[in-house]
Formats: sequence, C-alpha cells, structure tokens
Amino acid sequence: MTTNQTFAIVGASLAGAKAAETLRTEGFEGRLVMIGAEHERPYERPPLSKEYLRGEVERENVYVHGASFYAEHDIELRLGRTAVSLDTSIGQVRLDDGKRLRYDRLLLATGAEPRRLSIPGEALDGVFYLRSVEDCDALRERLDRGGSVVVVGAGWIGAEVAASARQRGLDVSVIDPLSVPLERVLGAEVGAIYRDIHTDHGVKMLLGTGVAAFEGTTAVERVRTSDGRTLDCDFVVVGVGVQPRTALASQGGVYVGDGIVVDEYLQTSKPGVFAAGDVAMAHHPLYGRGIRVEHWANALHQGPAAARNMLGRSDQFDRVPYFFSDQYGVGMEYAGYAPAWDRVVFRGDPASREFIAFWLVDDRVVAGMNVGVWDVTDQIQSLIRARVTVDDRRLADTGVPLEDLAPATETGVA
Ligand SMILES: Cc1cc2nc3c(=O)[nH]c(=O)nc-3n(C[C@H](O)[C@H](O)[C@H](O)COP(=O)(O)OP(=O)(O)OC[C@H]3O[C@@H](n4cnc5c(N)ncnc54)[C@H](O)[C@@H]3O)c2cc1C
Repeated sequence: MTTNQTFAIVGASLAGAKAAETLRTEGFEGRLVMIGAEHERPYERPPLSKEYLRGEVERENVYVHGASFYAEHDIELRLGRTAVSLDTSIGQVRLDDGKRLRYDRLLLATGAEPRRLSIPGEALDGVFYLRSVEDCDALRERLDRGGSVVVVGAGWIGAEVAASARQRGLDVSVIDPLSVPLERVLGAEVGAIYRDIHTDHGVKMLLGTGVAAFEGTTAVERVRTSDGRTLDCDFVVVGVGVQPRTALASQGGVYVGDGIVVDEYLQTSKPGVFAAGDVAMAHHPLYGRGIRVEHWANALHQGPAAARNMLGRSDQFDRVPYFFSDQYGVGMEYAGYAPAWDRVVFRGDPASREFIAFWLVDDRVVAGMNVGVWDVTDQIQSLIRARVTVDDRRLADTGVPLEDLAPATETGVA
C-alpha cells in the first residue's frame, strides 16, 4: 500500500537515521528521502566531547551506519542541503537549492543547536562551540596544541570537555553562575560530587559567577567574569545549553512551544507530520505532560517509534528518560525526570565514586543515577514506573536488592 508513497525525513542525525532504518526494516517499500544540512552522513555526538575529542577513536567509529548502508537500503541521502520551507497543506518541503520534495509522511528530526553567548568579545577567534563533528575537529586540533582553556558552562558538555581537556594535559578553568556543576539537573548535593571530581583532577572551578566579556586583540586572550576577575587563556569553549531547531516547523504552521509539540505517538499538530529527538516536546504518558529530552537514548528510540507511527501503527512513546556521561573514566547513567524533588538518598558512599543516588518526591523515586555501579538501570526504571512508596533505609541499604523495592516493569533502556 505504501509502495507509491514518499516519506521524507528532515535532519540526518541519530533520530532521523534510526527512523529511516526502521522504516525499511518494518517493510516500507516506497521512496525514502533524508535531508541533512551537514555534509557528513549521520553520526553520533556523544564521542565528540569524549573519546573522539581526545583523539582516541577515528572518525569511522562515530557514524550511525556504514557508508554503504543508505544506498543498500534505497535511502536517498541529500547531505549539505537544508529544508527551508514547509507547506503541509500540499505536503511539500522546499530545499535551499530550490528543489521541492512532495511527501506523504514527514519526520522532523532537526535536533538542537548551541545557545550563543551575546557578550563583548563573543566574535573573537578562539571562542569554540561544540555540536558538530566539524566543531569537534577544530577543537580537537586546538587541544593538540595545548595551553590553557576556559570552559564557560558546567553542564554536561562543559563538564565533559573540561575533563577531556585535562586528560589531554591542558590547564582548565570552568566558570558557571550556579554553585556547583550540573546543578540544574542533579542539585547542589550531587553536583558537589562532580565539583570535587574536577578539582581532584586539577580543574580550577569558578562557581557562582558568570562571564562578562572575552577580551583580546583578534583572538581571545582573557575572560572577564561578572564578579570582576580576569582569567588569562589561550582559548575558550562555550557550553551554555542548546535550543531546539524549530524554525522550519514554525514556518510551516506546525505548533511549536519549547520544541515541536507532539503527542505520545510523536504526531505534530499537522496530520502526517511527526517529530522526534532533541527537537520534540513529546507528551509523556508517565508524567502527564510534554517533555523535551536532549539525550542520545531519546533520539535513538524516538526515531524508530515515529517511523512505526508513520506506517500507521500506534506506538506510544513512554520510555523513562535516560542518559549517560563519562568524565575522567567516572561513568554514570541517569534515569528519570526530576524537575523538582524533596530529598536525595544515597546507596553506597559518594566519596568512593561507586554509588547510586535517588531523587524522591513524596517517598517515591522520580530519578536515579548510578555512578561506577552497572546493570541497575532496569531496576531503577522499574522503581520510577511503579511509583511505590519506598523506605529510605531500605533504599540506601546495599544489602536489599533493588528488585525487592519495586516490581519489574521495563527492560532495555539504551
Ligand atoms: C558533544 C556532545 C556530546 C553529547 N554527549 C551525550 C552523552 O554523553 N549522553 C547523552 O545521552 N547525550 C549526549 N549528547 C546529546 C545527543 O547527542 C543528542 O541528544 C542527539 O544528537 C540528538 O539527536 P537528534 O537526531 O535528535 O538531533 P541532532 O543530533 O541535533 O541532529 C539534527 C540534525 O538535523 C539537521 N538539520 C536541522 N535543521 C535542518 C533543516 N532545516 N534541513 C536539513 N537538516 C537540518 C542538523 O544539521 C543536524 O545534523 C551529546 C551531544 C553533543 C553535542
């Protein structure tokens, strides 16, 4: 039935590539076109702040699929092309080369882009942002030359870049207006553990202050903080969050809030148009509200779910959000969604850097993070889904199996 149809995917990254793969494995035999603004075929971004940035793996290791995959699966990959306008009334996307593409179903997987600082000196040479492999190659080459770097922002990207730069032997300072790294997601108590991990590795942490200006003649030479300090440096990396790329959807009249608003089937306000990955603000049945998740596992799973729904299935997306990070070899996984909590309970000693932290609301676990402890994500997710009340002492007791605290409800996260 779908043989004569055209399915289009805008955004050739993880969500888009996994959607294309799923359309073919689920039997879609029509025309399948994927449009990507970047010149590279779809690749994974997590290595760009970790092993690829440090020069430990080759470019070939970061791609989602092998080079021949798209041709073998009859997926038309239009790289280096941006979709500039969308007309959902006739099902048409226009590209920046003027070509028009008719579609029967469309997936918007346009992702997110770094927020830019708007301060004096922002345009000086030596101010780096990190989103694409091209950005990463430029930064990697700069790390190769050594020296001192100021990282602006102690969120995940900033923290990982700081760790990689230290591991490469550079002098690293980190500036963030919050009191500890990662405070927005982890809170002050757990963020303090990451502050200590960084200071133990020789990173200078300037917390509770912002950046007022970058100074230098043609290239950045120093950073001035909002509390009046100056820091000499050879270059700067800015990691102050991302924003969803919603311009195409907005222009096409698709309903947009903090991201492209979709229901639990990843369907937008326009029939036949879906969204997935970093750009999607998806209604989540577990939380009863829309959430936008800027993490790898979300793109990995939402792409395929959207693909199945493009084929007419009813695949409700209700996975517990999940992400991972690695800094100085201290690996962690986080499951859940916790915009607020009333307390944190630790299982294991945080000082040992092998522990689980649980965030609770009204005696129920809303999120859990395992650091240096593995194969517990399924149990943590079951605990979150079950919404059972838990006793703090049993939660903290490493002798009580996590399975005993909640029935198993979900397997396979990432
Ligand atoms: C350096 C770095 C490290 C990360 N590390 C981790 C990690 O450790 N753990 C984790 O869970 N997550 C991590 N992430 C986040 C993860 O990579 C993202 O969640 C994931 O890439 C989202 O995939 P996506 O396909 O939704 O969007 P993106 O990866 O943003 O891709 C969207 C693509 O769409 C293209 N595009 C946009 N608009 C158009 C248009 N109009 N026409 C054509 N193409 C368009 C863009 O050029 C881009 O290639 C990291 C991200 C970065 C940048």
